[in-house]
Amino acid sequence: APRTASFKLVLLGESAVGKSSLVLRFVRSATEVRDEFSDFRESTIAAFLTQTVPLDDSTNIKFEIWDTVGAGQERYKSLAPIYFRNANAAVIVYDITQPPEASFDKAKSWVRELQRQADPNIVIMLVGNKSDLKASRKVPRELGEQFAKDEELLFTEASAKTGDGVDDLFMSIGEFVVCPKN
Ligand code: GDP
Ligand code: MG
Repeated sequence: APRTASFKLVLLGESAVGKSSLVLRFVRSATEVRDEFSDFRESTIAAFLTQTVPLDDSTNIKFEIWDTVGAGQERYKSLAPIYFRNANAAVIVYDITQPPEASFDKAKSWVRELQRQADPNIVIMLVGNKSDLKASRKVPRELGEQFAKDEELLFTEASAKTGDGVDDLFMSIGEFVVCPKN
């Protein structure tokens, strides 16, 4: 039987950039859907979902995904280190249709925060979401790409709406965490 490699992945980014949409797109598109629970605690800080996907004949990857709900709220900020403690991977999302100050700069500050407080081996992927809205683009692809290169992050643009790039982004993180040499 294949072994199952589990890992914890957290979503970070300004509200309305599409974090939940990306997760739901990925979870719906895979074969096995397990909605274990949502609305964690009364203050609704995070939702937890799992998804198990075959990597190859010998390995399944089990994604344990924590999607923030209250990011950006003051009361949430002090909880952030608890939230990403033991995280193996972080997906930091910004909206390419908003000026950089709106969500790209916030994504950069999440990267700094993780560099200060998270496990030093955490795999970070920066994602420019809403790539379907080409005519409204306000963040050039190169801006995200260059920052990711400088900070040694994985990078992609994606659209939770069309699904473009979504499975690839989760699977490349999964592969990177499970077999970092590839
Ligand atoms: P979150 O607050 O970061 O979890 O953002 P949501 O997933 O709730 O999405 C915020 C809004 O952006 C919703 O109206 C979504 O339908 C919309 N949205 C999310 N992803 C995309 C995308 O890739 N393309 C477009 N056009 N809209 C999106
Ligand atoms: Mg959300």
